[in-house]
Order: sequence, then C-alpha cells, then structure tokens
Amino acid sequence: MNQETTTAVVASPLAPEWLSLPEDVNRVETKLWAQDVARNDAGELAISGIPVSELAAEFGTPVFVISETDFRARARSFKAAFDAAFAELCGGVDVYYAGKSFLCTEVARWVRQEGLRLDTCTGGELAVAARAGLPGELLGLHGNNKSDAEIHRALDMDLGRIVVDSLDELERLAGIAAERGSVAKVMLRLTPGVHASTHEFIATAHEDQKFGLSLAADDDGTSPAGRAVAAALAAGSIDLLGVHCHIGSQIFEPEGFAVAAERLLGFLATVQDEHGVALGELDLGGGYGIAYTEADTPRPPAEIANAMAAVVHDTCTALNIKVPRISIEPGRAISGPAGFSLYRAGTTKTVQVDAGTGSFPRRYVSVDGGMSDNARPVLYDADYSAVLASRASTAEPVISRVVGKHCESGDIVVRDVYLPA
Ligand SMILES: *Cc1c(COP(=O)(O)O)cnc(C)c1O
Repeated sequence: MNQETTTAVVASPLAPEWLSLPEDVNRVETKLWAQDVARNDAGELAISGIPVSELAAEFGTPVFVISETDFRARARSFKAAFDAAFAELCGGVDVYYAGKSFLCTEVARWVRQEGLRLDTCTGGELAVAARAGLPGELLGLHGNNKSDAEIHRALDMDLGRIVVDSLDELERLAGIAAERGSVAKVMLRLTPGVHASTHEFIATAHEDQKFGLSLAADDDGTSPAGRAVAAALAAGSIDLLGVHCHIGSQIFEPEGFAVAAERLLGFLATVQDEHGVALGELDLGGGYGIAYTEADTPRPPAEIANAMAAVVHDTCTALNIKVPRISIEPGRAISGPAGFSLYRAGTTKTVQVDAGTGSFPRRYVSVDGGMSDNARPVLYDADYSAVLASRASTAEPVISRVVGKHCESGDIVVRDVYLPA
C-alpha cells in the first residue's frame, strides 16, 4: 500500500534456527510469562497491574519478580491434576515443590497453603522451611553429601523423609539416628539407568554421574540399590518408606518417566519377593520441561499425570503388586514461568560478525547484573528470552545479545533475542 510497509525487515543470519523474526517485537509471549504479566495502556510491562518502573523504583535492579497468583495457580494445577489421575490407583499424590528452583519463606508458605509439601537439599533450605513455619512432616531432604549437622537438623525437625543417596550415607544416618534413640524415615534414591534427553549436567539417572544408588548388578550379582534395601531393613533406626528417582530436568518427552517408573516398580516387586516387604512409596521426581524460549512446548500437568498414571497402573497389574503411594517433585514447572528478572539496560554496542556469507551486525545490550543472578546460561548453555519492559517501541527488531556486567566474556544472560533497534 504505502512505501513504509514494504520495507522488509529480514531475519538475521546470526539468529539460531529456532528463533523467528517477531512480527511484533513488543509481544509478550503467553507461555514464557506469568499469567498476570502484560503491557499496560502506556506500553509498559506490568505484573498484576504494577508497572515494572514502580518495582524498579521501590526495590532497585536487578530484581527477581515472582507472581504469587501465577505461582499458586501452577502449584494448584499440579496437585489437582495428579490427585485426579491417581485418585483410584492410590488415593492421590504427594507433590513436593523442589525448593532449589526458587525458595524463600514467603514461597514456602504459598507451597504449604496450596496443599503441597517441600523438597529441600541443604540445611539452609531446611532453615527457610522452619522459619516459614512448615512442620517437618511436610519436608523431604535430598543431597548426595549431607553433613552430620544437616542429618541432625533433619532428625531434630522429625522430617517426613530423608532421601538417602548412597550406602555410605545410609550407614552414617543409621548410626546417628541410633545414637539419638530416634528412627529416621527414609527413601532410597535409585538410578534407573535412564539417560534423559537433556543437557549432560541436568540428566541425573544414568550410571556415570554422582547421584543415587544403581539398580545394575555388580560382579557378585547384587546391586547397590539391593544392598541398600537389605541394610535399611536390617537397621532398627531406619524406617524404609520406599524408593525415589529423579531422571533430570527440562524433559518434554514422557518416555523417560515411563521407563523409570517401570524399572522402579520392577525393583519394588523384587524387594517384595526377596524380603517379603511391600514398600509403600514411590517418588518419581521432577523435571517437567518449561518454555524458556518460543521453541519450547511444555505439556500441561494433566497430560503428564494421565500418562504416568497409565504406566503405573499397567506395570503394577503386570507385576501383580499393590500400587504404592506416588509422589512427585516439580520445581521449575511451578516457579519458572511465574517469575522474571528485571534488569536495567545500560551500554549498548554493535559488533560486526562474520557469518560465512558476509558480515552482519549483532547488538550487545549490557544489563546491571548477569551470571551472578542468572547462572544457567553460563552453566548449561541455556537459552532464554527477553523483552524491552519499560516501554513499547516502534523500532524494527535487531538480533541482540543481552550480557551482564562481569569481567567474563561468557557472562551472557540471553544469547539470542530480537530486541527493538
Ligand atoms: C532439581 C530437582 C528437582 C526439580 O527439577 P525441575 O526440573 O525443576 O522440576 C526434583 N527433584 C530433585 C531430586 C532435584 O534434584
């Protein structure tokens, strides 16, 4: 029609394949943001009606912003979906929010009020839970190297479960509990040998990594998992509740969870044959993938829950065992989309990058934080997304890289994103 609308903005050859040129660079993509985040009439990003400039003025930047509404809704939807899917099988599911995805006393209170429990993995997280008033029975303690002090603290708080990661730890825990004249409630963390298709450092159930007790038999025909069960059942100071696995994070495909559930249920059947004991609990961990960029497509909790319930039902029927009480440990699927980091943009710089077919501009946008507050891009090469929050812009999109202020060239917050020029 007119001259301006025919000026084509073209995708940059520097953009990765998954990143599309946005039609509207101001768009707030629903799956990446909390449900109560939107641009207001002035074009500024607002959360529950509060413009980000107000948050920046009150709290400074950088600041983590968490939507209580959205966090609670996600917590509730996991609990409701799994309770519904497992109602007939085992009366419902215990949902442990994985505190390592984000924890503070206020979040711990939301978790409890929404009917969830809390998964911790350090003495510090136990202290936060205690400060928030959560009773020990609602808490689990993870960790592959729990200190004696952490074990004492867990026993002081009479924790609902201590998830034991090794034979070494089992012996230490049994000794400490015996000395105190108490009984520790224990789950055993097993590695079912599933290598989840995710980044190497967040896949946690194959053999060659630090977590858990292997199901694979050694030369003598026994497995670390089998030996741990025998030792736990023999220890007077251990109450063995059941077994646990967590196969990794950012998992979108249901197959990994299904195979892990089958192997652990098979193990419970073996324990029943060998020891005449039906262990009552099975924890299938967390790891449900979320959208960090437009390329990720998370599955709704109900779909995950129904798929898992079908596997548990079929496997228990085939093995002829009673369905154990099921628990899960979602972390980021509850806290991730509910939050964002608010930075102030400072220096911008355009560099020319040789892309084989020529040289193309890339815009570097420096913010007042970086790898100090968002470590995942540096740790895992994780991709993220970003928008200009303080205003809507009419400028065309340019391929940009959001970087921090630290003296490391790896200090990248968002590797590839189109931002307004
Ligand atoms: C990290 C972790 C989780 C949560 O993982 P998400 O990917 O955030 O769901 C659950 N359980 C254990 C043991 C973990 O280490």
